[in-house]
Order: sequence, then structure tokens, then C-alpha cells
Amino acid sequence: MSFASFALDPRLQDRLLQLGYQQPTAVQQQCIPLVLQGKDVLAAAQTGTGKTAAFVLPLLQLLLNQANAVSFLQARALILTPTRELAQQVFESVQSYGQSLMLKTAVFYGGVSIRPQYDAAARGLDILVATPGRLLDHLHQGTVSLDELQYLVLDEADRMLDMGFLPDIQRILQRLPANRQTLFFSATFSKPVKALATTLLNQPEHIEV
Ligand code: AMP
Repeated sequence: MSFASFALDPRLQDRLLQLGYQQPTAVQQQCIPLVLQGKDVLAAAQTGTGKTAAFVLPLLQLLLNQANAVSFLQARALILTPTRELAQQVFESVQSYGQSLMLKTAVFYGGVSIRPQYDAAARGLDILVATPGRLLDHLHQGTVSLDELQYLVLDEADRMLDMGFLPDIQRILQRLPANRQTLFFSATFSKPVKALATTLLNQPEHIEV
């Protein structure tokens, strides 16, 4: 199977060629078509399997399919990660794969000043990558809004729960529209992880690699 078999924009296909990605990994083969079809996805995938591109590539495509501009303070897609390091890494993947797409993107995490993050939100965000704590600060201060969110991704959900983020995640979820597409990635599936997945996902397709 090749990337050409997916309905991805030529600019994304070119970028993958540039990066030397010759074929999709197992998780990408399964995940990309489902996300493009608008399905919720529950994926069991470890780091190193290519999971980031499995959600970032189809997400970029779905956003490209929409011509309308995103409004002041609104985010269209949210990717939640447990740590700053992972948030930064995922953000770099978003920027790298999407470098010729002109989408508005930002990463929010703690330990750095809020102001530049607010400035980015003010321009409207196609994709926001964030850690739960800093995102909640923004939501409380009204410096970003998730009222028009269409796509939610939880990356490394098990680590988020291990780090005690469940209450933060629940508070964030209260701010999200029910009508959205959700992708849930986790390496392991303990009872609490499964319970969170159940509350978040709507008739999900299951992927295991
Ligand atoms: P991840 O599991 O998302 O952390 O990705 C692991 C590494 O695999 C990253 O360095 C990616 O750049 C790389 N990668 C992802 N997809 C592919 C692919 N289809 N072909 C080659 N490398 C890839």
C-alpha cells in the first residue's frame, strides 16, 4: 500500500515524498481512511509506530476540505497531550506535514508566558496542540474558545490519566460541542482508560497495531 491510495492533497503527498516516507505504517494504513471518512477511532498504538502522522495527516486533510475561515479565539481541532515535550513534538509534526498549507496552528503548554499563546488564538486556530493544565487556564480566562471545535484527539491517553489529568480532561470536555469527531490514542487500556474512551467516543472503529 502507498500514501497515494489515500485521498490526501497533492501538497501533503509531496511533503511525504520529501520526508522519504515510502509507505504508510500499519497504524497509518488503518487510521487514515477511517478519519477521512469521519469516524471516531480508538487506537492502541505505542510510540514509534507512526501514530502521530496517523492522526495529523487526515486531520490536515479534513481541515483543508473546509474553505471557511476560523473565527477569533476559536479552535477547530484540538490535540491534547500529557507533557510539554510531547505537545512540542506533535506540534512540530503538524508544522512539518502542513508546511505548505497555510493553516493556523499553535501549541499551548505551561511554564511559558500566556500572551503569545493568546495572540495566536486571536487569529483563530485550525489546530491547537495543548497540555490540559495550560488549556484550562486559557479557557477560564477566555483567551481561547472550544465552542466551535470539530475534531478532538487524545494522544497517549493512558499517560494523561497516570499523571492525574482526569479532572482537567473532564473540565475541558464540558466545554466541547457534543457533535465532533474524536480520536483516542493509548498504548495501554486499563479500566479507567477504557471508561474515558467510552465517554468520549461515538461508535468508534477499533485499531490495534
Ligand atoms: P511516532 O510513532 O508518531 O512517534 O513516529 C515515529 C517516527 O516515525 C517519527 O520520527 C516519524 O517521522 C516517523 N514516521 C512516521 N510515519 C512514517 C512513515 N510512513 N515512513 C517513515 N517514517 C515514518
